[in-house]
Amino acid sequence: MIIARSVDELRTILDAKNGSIGFVPTMGALHSGHRTLIDEARKCNDHVVVSIYVNPTQFLAGEDLSKYPRKEEADFKICELCSVDVLFYPQSMYENDEISIKAPNVRGYILEGASRPGHFDGMLTVVLKLLNAVRPTRAYFGKKDAQQLGLIQQMVSNFYLDVEIVPMETVRENDGLALSSRNVYLDEFQRKEALKISGALRKAVEMVMQKNTNAEEIQKAMAEILQPLDVEYVAIVTRRFEALNEVILGDTIILIAARVGTTRLIDNVWI
Ligand code: AMP
Repeated sequence: MIIARSVDELRTILDAKNGSIGFVPTMGALHSGHRTLIDEARKCNDHVVVSIYVNPTQFLAGEDLSKYPRKEEADFKICELCSVDVLFYPQSMYENDEISIKAPNVRGYILEGASRPGHFDGMLTVVLKLLNAVRPTRAYFGKKDAQQLGLIQQMVSNFYLDVEIVPMETVRENDGLALSSRNVYLDEFQRKEALKISGALRKAVEMVMQKNTNAEEIQKAMAEILQPLDVEYVAIVTRRFEALNEVILGDTIILIAARVGTTRLIDNVWI
């Protein structure tokens, strides 16, 4: 595995390669969720590039960027074990006073975007930079960050980017908890409480399977399960993030954002 620490280094390495490139952008603290993205990239491409970069522009004022979990040594090992060809590990990706991408006014500022206004501007900006630096054939993103995935797909379409975006299923612990770099913040009690999030999503799926597709009733049942967590939102939307009164099979995402202690967790299910 070669480690590239700047875009110039990365380009020199990649310019010497022929064949398809699968790209997995991450913020590090790698877990099995990231690994499934890397494994899929490995399976379907000649070369695999993983980036690890904790992007400052997607953290808002007051969100503690310095506290984001960092596990350089373990991450390098995981990438090596997953047969990654090139690890892109830049120090910084910005200079002063740069041009940035603006997330769409509606889809970029509801749900996650309402809780974290400007977060998606920073996320899209760094993803565009990364896609232009790596020039991958395919880039892999998790459905766990459903709104992020949708906005990246929209950016690719709006800016005619030449890359295939590959959505990947959410990887969970055996008990249902969605894997997240933030799970390390949970103590034993909080980890149990956090199961209410996947539990509420399971309840929603059960209700739909029993032919109850009424969004209000589903949200009510979910809210009961989620008690006493500090819930930021429970939303039932189309794949384009328009609010739904009735679940539409094949075009629905049910999402939750909740705080367990001080840790903010998100999860969702695609129906
Ligand atoms: P992050 O390092 O949190 O920026 O995540 C990097 C990529 O991994 C994103 O595309 C995430 O959606 C994806 N990801 C994070 N957690 C999971 C998970 N539990 N299952 C599948 N993909 C995930």
